[in-house]
Amino acid sequence: MSELNLILFGPPGAGKGTQADRLRNDFRLPFISTGDMLRGNVKEGTELGQEAQKYMDAGELVPDELIVKMAAERLNESDALDGFILDGFPRTIEQAKALDKQLTEVGRRVTAAILVDVPDQEVVRRISGRRLCVKSGHNYHVDFDPPKREGVCDQDGSRLIQRDDDKDEVVRNRLKVYHDQTEPLIDYFDDQGLMRRIDGTRSPAEVHDHIRAVIATLRMEDDV
Ligand code: AMP
Repeated sequence: MSELNLILFGPPGAGKGTQADRLRNDFRLPFISTGDMLRGNVKEGTELGQEAQKYMDAGELVPDELIVKMAAERLNESDALDGFILDGFPRTIEQAKALDKQLTEVGRRVTAAILVDVPDQEVVRRISGRRLCVKSGHNYHVDFDPPKREGVCDQDGSRLIQRDDDKDEVVRNRLKVYHDQTEPLIDYFDDQGLMRRIDGTRSPAEVHDHIRAVIATLRMEDDV
């Protein structure tokens, strides 16, 4: 069977990070999140991180040329040569074209683009309650998954914070950017027969089952 080159996309707060953890255990595929990579660069204070931070803090997209280069380098690493799951990339038509070009040059292609769909008001509700452990990045939610002690990580006792770009006005801008710049990808992938939609308002377990079912179907289609 040939490789699985999957794109996972959707509005901020669709639960892609939660699904990432689950899918990582199911499939031996590298899970590549450009958001995580950028946050790593910001933390380490690299040149890319310094350049990217102002866009991220404002909920804007980092310019295509920076992101495309970063993603291309990551996809060329040995663990991604037999397949990958991309989260948060591509996010513009320009990025999608750059990805297609890179894969086509080596005889590869995107297998499917899985959209985890969640309406705006649910996005705002989910993100505004999100909290993160300053030390190890464990995730909590003040309503859905609260820590035992408010503001303190259950696992290592560190302080919980809200990501700057999870603050209300930034979330609204991230949603606007999603609708303006990323949603056009739905038609782009649809035209190529690659779009698969998933209802992201279901429980994490149901969304996970659905994604796995989609991937199983893709594998079967590939085998026949
Ligand atoms: P995420 O964790 O995927 O929501 O990404 C956090 C932030 O990183 C986004 O709001 C953007 O500023 C930036 N970012 C991540 N991926 C991309 C991308 N493919 N293109 C442009 N900016 C990105």
